[in-house]
Amino acid sequence: MRLRYRCPGCRTTSNLHDPGCDFEGVDRVDVERAYTDLLAALSVRPFEDEAGLREAVPGRWSGLHAAVLSRLRADQRVVRENGELRLLEPEAFKERVARPTFEPLQTIYEKGSVPGAHDHSVFALLAFYEMVGLSWEEAHENTVEWLRSSGTWDRGGFEESTPAELVDTKRHVYEEGYGWKQAATEAKAVIDRRL
Ligand SMILES: [Zn+2]
Repeated sequence: MRLRYRCPGCRTTSNLHDPGCDFEGVDRVDVERAYTDLLAALSVRPFEDEAGLREAVPGRWSGLHAAVLSRLRADQRVVRENGELRLLEPEAFKERVARPTFEPLQTIYEKGSVPGAHDHSVFALLAFYEMVGLSWEEAHENTVEWLRSSGTWDRGGFEESTPAELVDTKRHVYEEGYGWKQAATEAKAVIDRRL
């Protein structure tokens, strides 16, 4: 998979940062170097703690390294497993992020959506998959699979004739890179009332 080097603060991949982002004005080259330093070290071996990782990066550990590490951990590219910080292989990463295990996405993912929450649920999942760096094809596939396996599609309430067709109509959500939290919170509230 392509690994896009996102701003560690606001996640943008361009020079247009969110208002108030701490990394506005930071040179992209420096951001990319911090990513490559960390990914190079972590691709060789896992580390017991951050101190070990700090020593393994070339040159001085900077605030940018710390911010990029936080970003990688928040995005679950780097996880703590068996007491070690490790870089997830692309396949393991994709599998892990396909099934969100934190709220409010977990409720949507596990219980499925209900009529009245469908728009927000599909929006939230696609926006989440985009945020963690899955391609459109991967995000599409996961969402179609979820519509089927969660029982959401069988509950009805869709104008489209297939799950794939429904997800196709939401491509703008993926392309605009909207946040998922608001939509997920609203969808979960409806799901919790009905299921
Ligand atoms: Zn930013």
